[in-house]
Order: sequence, then structure tokens, then C-alpha cells
Amino acid sequence: RAKRDGRNAYRFFTSEMQAQSARALLLENALRRAQERGQLSLHYQPQFALEDGDQSRVIGAEALLRWQHPELGWVSPAEFIPIAETTGLILPIGEWVLREALSQLRRWDAAGLPQLTMAVNLSAVQFRHDDLPDLVERVLADVGIPAQRLELELTEGAAMDNPTVAITVMNELHARGVRLSIDDFGTGYSSLSYLKKFRVSKLKIDQSFVRELSDDAEDRAIVDAVIRMAGALGLQTLAEGVETEGQLAFLRRQGCQAVQGYLFSRPLPAEAFAQFMLARTSTAPAPLSAYAALP
Ligand code: C2E
Ligand code: MG
Ligand code: MG
Ligand code: MG
Repeated sequence: RAKRDGRNAYRFFTSEMQAQSARALLLENALRRAQERGQLSLHYQPQFALEDGDQSRVIGAEALLRWQHPELGWVSPAEFIPIAETTGLILPIGEWVLREALSQLRRWDAAGLPQLTMAVNLSAVQFRHDDLPDLVERVLADVGIPAQRLELELTEGAAMDNPTVAITVMNELHARGVRLSIDDFGTGYSSLSYLKKFRVSKLKIDQSFVRELSDDAEDRAIVDAVIRMAGALGLQTLAEGVETEGQLAFLRRQGCQAVQGYLFSRPLPAEAFAQFMLARTSTAPAPLSAYAALP
């Protein structure tokens, strides 16, 4: 492979750089076998609609990929997703995520949980792949989940990379009934003129703006502007990374429709998610902190 053939060109590598690329190679090789060895799993973070007064209701879950390697331990998606993307492994892994997340939704239905939507993250590589709309349709049919209950999360970068193609793919997904949201909104470079052409139903306000809402007047102005712009375009808003009551109160006041964050719950294994739901609907809800403490 290129990296080895060109070894001489890398003589100026510092030891730190060498260590980094060694780890990347190690992860790449381990990731190739992660799926068949059962090291991948999904955690689910509840998403809440903000309702009248100070009420909130779970409306969905975001599926978040987890990788536990016997020697390396838990590897963060921030580290392995980019590797999965450059190697193309994201295609089979992404298909597994979609199938597993929707199958879990079926199991929750069978267990009597309220009808939730499932949000699944989509990499730019998956989004660009020709087969995506058909693949999504096939998996929905295999599992027996109506398209309306699936929401695919796409970053601005994935959409703006080639807006013309993005519009086509979005239209194809929309035609099949699947909803789309823009993840990490505000961190990329969405052109506002495209936003109106994109078939998306929701903007997920990035957690970097939410984090400092209490101390940073500029972040408050940005979040307020995003919520109002979304409203004018007929889009919903969901704020990510809500950790404090103060952040929640501000978001409510500005008319943000939905939230997600450690204040309510960390991402949970499927079983713990079901318990979280049951605890919320029973008369004596478990304290939020019991769930906020999980990994
Ligand atoms: P994301 O889709 O924007 O997911 C939100 C991230 O923020 C998750 O990190 C979640 O655990 C974390 N988070 C949620 N609430 C809070 C909070 O209140 N405070 C803080 N500090 N963090 C919070 P995670 O699970 O490590 O995932 C990181 C990123 O990896 C995701 O960002 C997404 O871009 C990517 N990712 C995860 N699973 C998948 C997947 O199945 N496919 C693809 N393509 N990407 C994935
Ligand atoms: Mg996401
Ligand atoms: Mg995000
Ligand atoms: Mg992200």
C-alpha cells in the first residue's frame, strides 16, 4: 500500500506522528473485524419534545454507535468513524446500524413502548453512495417499520459537498417517506439559499452553541436566530447537548421544539432505554440522575 511504498518520504515523521499513524493502522485492522466479532453495539439517547408549561415528552431516540475492543477498550466514534469513512467500512457498518436500530424499534414496539421515531446518523460516504435510497427502503421493508418513523441525520458538510446531488438524494428519500435532519447545524457552511431547497424537516443545533448559552450572549443570539430562521422556513429545531436547567429554560423561551442531552439522559443500552421509558410513564419516576450517571 501507498503508505509503506513511500516510507522514505516519511523520514521526517516525529515519534508522535508515528504513534498516531500506528494507532490508526491498528484501529483500521481491528475495525475490519469488529462487526463479525460482535464488538459493535448501539446506544440510544432519548429525544424530547418541549411541551406546554415545563412538560417534555420522549418522541424518539438517536442511535449512537459504540465499539468495544477486547484490548483497546471503548473506542470513541470521533476516532473510528473517520477511519470507517476513509476505508469504506462505513458502508457495511452503516447498513448494520440502520438494520439494528430499526429492529430495536420493533422490539420496543413489541414491549409496549410508545411509538418512537429512530434517528440514525448518516456519513457523507453513505449519503453519496448510489444505492442509499433503495437500501433504506429495503431495510425498512425487511424490518417492517414505516418510513415515517425513520429520521436520517446528515451533517451540513455532507449536504453542501455537492448540493445538486444532495437535493436529488434528499428528494428520493423524501419520496419514500423518510425524514431528514441536519446534524451539528451551525458548525459547517450551509448556504442559506440551499437550506430552502433541501428536503429536510429539522435542524439540530450543535452542542457547541448550547454549551455556553448561560455565559455567552453571542451564542444566545446565534441560537435565537437559528430557531427563528428555522421557523420561517417551516423547519423544526432540536438542540443537542443540553446539560443544564438554564440552557433548557432559554431554549424553551425561544421556542425550540425539541432537546436532547445529559440533563435528561446519556445515550443508553437498549435495555436501559426501555427502563428509562417505563420509569417515566410509571407514577413514581426514577430520578433523572440515575440515568445521567451511566456511561
Ligand atoms: P452526533 O450525531 O452529533 O451525536 C451527538 C454526540 O454528543 C454523541 O457523541 C452523544 O453521546 C453526545 N452527547 C449527547 N448529549 C450530550 C451532552 O449533553 N453533553 C455532551 N458533552 N455530549 C452529549 P458520540 O456518541 O460520541 O458520537 C459522536 C459522533 O460520532 C456523533 O455526533 C456522530 O457524528 C458520530 N456517530 C455516532 N454514531 C454514528 C453512526 O452510527 N454513524 C455515523 N456515520 N456516525 C456516527
Ligand atoms: Mg447525530
Ligand atoms: Mg450533532
Ligand atoms: Mg457530531
